[in-house]
Amino acid sequence: MPELPEVETIARGLRADLCGARVAAGALLWPGVLESGHGALDGAAFPEAVAGGRIDAVWRRGKVLLLDLGGPGRAPLHLAFHLRMTGRLTVEPGDAGPTRHTRLLLDLADGRRLFFADARKFGRCRAMSPKALGRWPFFAALGPEPLELDARAFAALLAGRRARIKALLLDQSVLAGVGNIYADESLFRAGIHPADTAAALGPARLERLHGALVRVLAEAIAANGSSISDYVNAHGDAGAFQNDFRVYGRRGCPCRVCSAPLVRTAVAGRTTTFCPHCQPPARAGGA
Ligand SMILES: [Zn+2]
Repeated sequence: MPELPEVETIARGLRADLCGARVAAGALLWPGVLESGHGALDGAAFPEAVAGGRIDAVWRRGKVLLLDLGGPGRAPLHLAFHLRMTGRLTVEPGDAGPTRHTRLLLDLADGRRLFFADARKFGRCRAMSPKALGRWPFFAALGPEPLELDARAFAALLAGRRARIKALLLDQSVLAGVGNIYADESLFRAGIHPADTAAALGPARLERLHGALVRVLAEAIAANGSSISDYVNAHGDAGAFQNDFRVYGRRGCPCRVCSAPLVRTAVAGRTTTFCPHCQPPARAGGA
């Protein structure tokens, strides 16, 4: 599932390619891709709402990628894409045809096409006015962006909470954009046991976790994200950060720091890989 670095990479690619482009027509090849409710447009209104719009901005909030459509005399419209497991957004030449996994497409006035493909059909798009975007409960509940928090604010956000630190990192209403990969990688780098409660970690360890998380996210963005299943950027290229994983997906492999075999367990219902030596529980390991 694309996390913050992957969605950020896609947004950067699309921004460079699409800003200023005009949408000639839009089509839903699988109606279920469009999520309505809470003021989002339904499928019948979608083609007319996007036709003639100019792509003014491409941005990201948490794991949601947004295209802003505007232009003279038009009501602004946000297209919010949730890629989930296998969603892909790619810019294609005009002679490219949709595949059996293409769920939504935008034909651009310059002849190019934007395809939203999704093999497993978990991905969704919502078309919303700015007002409806503000009222979308999922979006309104998103926590702060980790790259926009300083260490002290990050520690204050988590301090004293009785939930496990891994669960808090994954909770999009606490922190937006972090998923299983970057939670495991940042906890390893900070030397923190994933099942520790935030309350058991003092401010110094929480600040260390902030530093580790920011470094991991920045390195992953610089590597164009991690490609472990279907993720590709806007140009169809894979990321490279999976080659730098220290724990994620490495159960039984030697820890890159201490050579102890990495352990896989479940924390908050999610597969979690960690080093029992480098990431001791807070009580046993001390602060
Ligand atoms: Zn280790």
